[in-house]
Order: sequence, then C-alpha cells, then structure tokens
Amino acid sequence: MGRLKAMPPRLGRLAPLLAMPTDTEGHSKVNEPWRGWYKLARWQRLRIRVFVRENYTCQLCSRVTGRPIADHVRPHRGDPALFWSEANVQTLCKPCHDGEKQAAERRAHPGG
Ligand SMILES: [Zn+2]
Repeated sequence: MGRLKAMPPRLGRLAPLLAMPTDTEGHSKVNEPWRGWYKLARWQRLRIRVFVRENYTCQLCSRVTGRPIADHVRPHRGDPALFWSEANVQTLCKPCHDGEKQAAERRAHPGG
C-alpha cells in the first residue's frame, strides 16, 4: 500500500468558534431555584391570603403593619412542601422580621 498521510490537523483554528459558552461555571444561583418562587403569582396570592387571614397583624408584636412580610415559621431551605404550606407562613412587620433573625443568632449562644 502507499504511504497515505493524514491531512494536517488544521481544524484547531475552528475550535474557538465551536466552543459554546456554558452556564455551568461558577453560577451559584443555579443551586437555589427557590429564589425564583418568590416571583411567582402563586406566592403573591399565598402571602396575601396569609395577610388577610391575620388582618395584616404582625404575629410577634401584634401591630398592624402597612408593609407586611410573609415569613416562613419553619425555614423551608428549598423544601417545596414547607415553602408552599400556608400554615407555615405568618405575617411579620419589617422590624420584627429583621430583629427576629438577630434574636435567632443570639439564641444560638445559650447562657449569653
Ligand atoms: Zn412586629
């Protein structure tokens, strides 16, 4: 047989054109799809139902608030069952919502 030589590898020049950019590199938000749930109409309706149920009254300080916050009693941590449970959502005013988190951190250090 003859000495057939393979074609020189010139395809390397095309590689940059063929390489498609991927979304799989370094986008941490992909790991938290539940953040998008807060934008759904389903969530908007659910939180309004909770506000009406509790008359826009903060469940911590019993004050009626004009800008209520729908708070998950048990942290859902991405669990749809907890996230969409109306019984697991309560009305909070902003000061209590912000303060409650700080209190929870203090509770992590008993005796202090
Ligand atoms: Zn409050």
